[in-house]
Amino acid sequence: MNFENQVAIVTGGTRGIGKGITQALLQAGAKVIATYAHNDAKANMFKEEMSLYADRLTLKKFDVTDKSQCEDFFKDVTEEFDQVHILINNSGIRRDNLGASMTQEDWEQVLDTNLKGSFYMSQLSILHMMKKRYGRIINISSVGGKMGLAGQANYAASKAGQIAMSKSLSKEVAKRKITINNVCPGFIETELIDDLSEDLVKEYKSQIPMKRFGKVDEVANAVLFLASDKASYITGTTLDVSGGL
Ligand code: NDP
Repeated sequence: MNFENQVAIVTGGTRGIGKGITQALLQAGAKVIATYAHNDAKANMFKEEMSLYADRLTLKKFDVTDKSQCEDFFKDVTEEFDQVHILINNSGIRRDNLGASMTQEDWEQVLDTNLKGSFYMSQLSILHMMKKRYGRIINISSVGGKMGLAGQANYAASKAGQIAMSKSLSKEVAKRKITINNVCPGFIETELIDDLSEDLVKEYKSQIPMKRFGKVDEVANAVLFLASDKASYITGTTLDVSGGL
């Protein structure tokens, strides 16, 4: 797949799954704007690792939960680049707790980051992509949004919300050659799930037909396919990358 002359935004694109997606897009020739919210150290390390692609990689720091920051980011990007072809809504957080004891703050932070942030970024991209009559939007949702996991009422709701949101939006923009899809990872080896206890890791692996957690590259490959011209007739759908979970 060749993404030369295409511009992609990857939110949360400097570590974890987003880092894998940014790297794969750079290797395939795209110009990438990778965003992050807090972790300057990881972002700078990533920039150094990607020095080979320095002329095609831009890093931007802002919080996707804040609409005005999303608007400022988009204004900067569209001044710098003529066209944005691809948006990957990848930034996300977990704040697990049993529903009965979940705080309002944990509920709101997860919904705001995973769902509201994806909506703000999608809305701004759609306004731009409609004028250009081309676009690819991919949300990194989760199998948790389809099956639910104990302790993840907030996370599962946010991820199910992303799927429903993109199904609706995809119908609104299909005529303008904009496709909107979801990739639903299962358990992928990143810092997001570093805190799982050994017992829980064992239990989850035993439930996965492939008996292992996935790698960020395995998610990135699915994302690149949906972002490419080869996926021109696919919209409003979800692709699981979960080892069969
Ligand atoms: P990581 O925790 O490794 O990375 C999360 C990224 O999101 C970071 O770059 C972080 O920025 C960014 N981010 C967090 N909050 C905000 C915010 N408010 N504004 C902007 N950016 C923000 O997570 P993963 O790579 O594991 O997860 C990526 C996506 O994949 C998430 O949406 C997650 O829900 C989903 N997913 C992950 C699975 C897994 O097993 N790992 C399974 C299923 C889905 P910073 O570096 O500055 O903190």
